Amino acid sequence: MDSTGPVHARAALRSSSSSDPWLSPGYLRALPKAEVHCHLEGSVPPEVAIELARKNGVKLPTSNPEDLYRYSSLEEFLVLYVAVSRAMKTPRDFEMVTYSSLCVAAEGGLRYREIAFNPSNHPDLSYPEMLAGILAAELLGPPAAPESPEPTGEKVEAA
Ligand SMILES: [Zn+2]
Repeated sequence: MDSTGPVHARAALRSSSSSDPWLSPGYLRALPKAEVHCHLEGSVPPEVAIELARKNGVKLPTSNPEDLYRYSSLEEFLVLYVAVSRAMKTPRDFEMVTYSSLCVAAEGGLRYREIAFNPSNHPDLSYPEMLAGILAAELLGPPAAPESPEPTGEKVEAA
């Protein structure tokens, strides 16, 4: 990889070798990231989805976190997405989902996220109740993030 000029990330990833320190999983994970389009219900960690479904009496296709987000079609995904959404029934559930989702993302280097959610997927809650749960997660404090990698002066551009 040319370390003096701009690098197109996809091309770099295609040509990467495991010995390239700039493309090592640890380096890529530690890079600070921003996520500007996150569906809250689509970011529920599988263990949390299974726990909430069990607590709230919602049937999911499996109780194995390793298998929960395996689907083979858009329709299958949407059925799962709605089921996971329906498992979020209290403001506390929204708090738990928001915080756990942010913790997982922070481990991957997330520093900024814009979250959207679909109120119509949660018929048992009012909009203010859902929002209160999301905002309560903020009071738990920032999740731990990996240390930022050393600055290199190298530019990385998305292809
Ligand atoms: Zn979207």
